[in-house]
Amino acid sequence: MQAKRSAKLSVGLVPTMGALHQGHLTLIRAALSENNLIVATIYVNPTQFNNASDLDKYPRSLEADIKMLEKENCHALFMPSDLEMYSDTQYLKFDFGDLDKVMEGRFRPGHFSGVALVVSKLFNIVQPDKAYFGQKDYQQFQIIQRLVTELKFPVELRSVPIVRDPTGLALSSRNQRLNEADLNKATLLHECLVYAKDKLAQGEEFDLIKREVSQKFNEDEGLELEYLELADKMTLAPLEKNTHPNQGILLIAAYINGVRLIDNMILDQ
Ligand code: AMP
Repeated sequence: MQAKRSAKLSVGLVPTMGALHQGHLTLIRAALSENNLIVATIYVNPTQFNNASDLDKYPRSLEADIKMLEKENCHALFMPSDLEMYSDTQYLKFDFGDLDKVMEGRFRPGHFSGVALVVSKLFNIVQPDKAYFGQKDYQQFQIIQRLVTELKFPVELRSVPIVRDPTGLALSSRNQRLNEADLNKATLLHECLVYAKDKLAQGEEFDLIKREVSQKFNEDEGLELEYLELADKMTLAPLEKNTHPNQGILLIAAYINGVRLIDNMILDQ
């Protein structure tokens, strides 16, 4: 089995939901740098959406996506249909213990079960040696790591740093749903992460920082902070302060005129 695997060309998998941007392309480039064959996937996975209108409004730009992938010399693109991915009645549900009860898991019930389901299917179909995910979806990466460990998927995971635009806004397919004024407002997510990081470094209580950040969001109509959390990088358990310099990560989710965005910042980076 091992001999067979090592004789074949190494395959790198980059799962996406399309509406590609430079963030996705850094995953493709990272995959190209350490594999013989790259498979990108574009699939807007219905089971990870807990809100029908979010699924409906999810940006789709297939022609442009294909051009971008060709330009990057991506070798293969897999675009399954819903029927291919979910032909049978679907009963399988995942529970990741403490990891999926906080933040994204708390505010998007069922989201990570859907993510784990689709990622498991993609791993089984593509059988990659390595799979590439963005740090932008930090909690998702921790969940997939646990999935791979517990189900013993023979795949190595890679996390790629967040790509931002010059204002600091993390690139996201959902940014396409924002007009120029909203894009300007959306920079508040990153600004608040930087603010919170600085204040923590100055020794300010995280509870107070949270209240200050919440205030900043309340000042502008159309903005709504869903959460700002300080968490342990590995367990995602909430922290009251960043006691150990290497321990913490700040994670944020907010609505900008109805469009939900997330971002995060590792404190020792
Ligand atoms: P999505 O198409 O939004 O599901 O994202 C597909 C992959 O791209 C996920 O692993 C994301 O974490 C990653 N990704 C999305 N945005 C960024 C970004 N700004 N920087 C780095 N990776 C990203």
